[in-house]
Amino acid sequence: MTPKHGQLIYEGKAKRIYETDLDNRVLIEFKNDATAFNALKHEEFEGKGRINCEISAHLFEVLEKAGVPTHYLSREDDCWMLAKHVEIIPLEVVVRNIATGSLCKETPIEQGKELIPPLLDYYFKDDNLGDPLLSEARLERLGVISKKKKLEVEKLSSQINILLKAFFKQLDLTIVDFKLEFGIDKNGQILLSDEISPDTCRIWDQRNSDDKARILDKDRFRKDLGGLVNAYGEVLKRIQGLSSKPHNCS
Ligand code: UDP
Repeated sequence: MTPKHGQLIYEGKAKRIYETDLDNRVLIEFKNDATAFNALKHEEFEGKGRINCEISAHLFEVLEKAGVPTHYLSREDDCWMLAKHVEIIPLEVVVRNIATGSLCKETPIEQGKELIPPLLDYYFKDDNLGDPLLSEARLERLGVISKKKKLEVEKLSSQINILLKAFFKQLDLTIVDFKLEFGIDKNGQILLSDEISPDTCRIWDQRNSDDKARILDKDRFRKDLGGLVNAYGEVLKRIQGLSSKPHNCS
C-alpha cells in the first residue's frame, strides 16, 4: 500500500485514522467492529470493513463528480482510504426522508411516514454525553459552527440527499435516512468527511416488501436480525453492477 501509514491520530468505533508521510493526507482504516446504542452493544463482522470502505469510496466518487467537496482521495487497499486531513466539526448531521429510528421513539410521527421536505437534525458529537439532539438555540449557543458555515452545511446536506436518493433509486434501493459529518481543511473549506455506508445510512430494498428482510443496513445488528455482512454485500453488489453496465450514450 502507498503511502505508508504513520502514527494513529484517532480511533473511533468503526475506523482508525493515521498520519501519513504526505502533507495534509491521512489514511483511514475501516474496521470490522459494529457498535450500537452508544457502544453498549458491540460485535465484529468479518468483511464489514472492506465492504464499507468500498461502498463509501464509491459514494464519495459519485458525490465529488456532482460537485460536492469531500475529503476523499482514493481507495488504497481493501479496508483503507486516503483522505485530506480535516478538523472535524463536532456535529452529526442527520437527514431523514422516511420516519423511523429515534425520530419515531421521540415524537408521535408515524413509522414509515415520508418526510416532505426531508428533515435535518443536528446532534452534538460527544460520546460521553451520548450524542444529544440539539435545538437551533443550543447549536448557536455551543458555537461549534458559524452561521455562514451552518448554511453551507445545510445546502450541501440537501444536495447530497438529492444525489443519494437518485443514486440508490436506480439500484432499487431507498435511502431512508443517513448521518453526515463535515470537516474543515487547511484552506478553511468545508468538506464532506467520515464515511457513507450501511453503518451510517438506513437502506431498504425496494425488491422486498417484508419490513425486516428489506433492511440492508446496521438496523440488522441493532434489531438482532442477523445477516449483516450479506445485507451490506448486497448493497455493494448492486453498486458494482451499476459500474459494470455499459454506458448508454443516447
Ligand atoms: N446514525 C449514525 N451514527 C450515530 C447515530 C445515527 O450513523 O451515531 C445514523 C443511523 O444509522 C441512521 C441515521 O443516522 O441512518 C438516523 O439515526 P437515528 O437518529 O434514527 O438513531 P438510531 O435509531 O440509530 O438511534
